[in-house]
Amino acid sequence: MSDTIFSKIIRGEIPSHKVYEDDKVFAFLDIGPLSKGHTLVIPKEAVPTLDRLSDESAAAIGRVLPRICRAVMKATGASDFNVLQNNGKSAHQVVMHVHFHIIPRFGEEGLGIEWNTTAFDHGAGAALAKAISANL
Ligand code: 5GP
Repeated sequence: MSDTIFSKIIRGEIPSHKVYEDDKVFAFLDIGPLSKGHTLVIPKEAVPTLDRLSDESAAAIGRVLPRICRAVMKATGASDFNVLQNNGKSAHQVVMHVHFHIIPRFGEEGLGIEWNTTAFDHGAGAALAKAISANL
């Protein structure tokens, strides 16, 4: 359980510009938008990171996330967008309540991405894929 500013927003103790709500999901405009229409989609379940989220909340978010993306695109006129989901301080997470950013892209306005690829080692990759599978 992690009671953050987002729990207060869900409970209506802090105002927000709400765009969607059901029994498991809440969505509202980001107060520091990277672009027009920057929206946050959050589970009502208060856990800090995605790996801690219940299957029920994950399914509820998965069900509505594409619909909210479509609504943001239609309302803003954007045709491209990023969905961003940060977990942990070093991964740029500031609010420790799971959230998905929907960030419309308008030319240079939107999410800046530095994509530093590294070489792929197929031997190590095979072992890693097995290890990940074994942990599911
Ligand atoms: P993070 O870096 O944790 O993935 O992003 C947290 C986001 O929450 C930021 O984009 C920030 O602007 C947004 N945020 C933080 N506090 C509030 C708030 O009180 N209201 C709203 N609407 N957004 C907030």
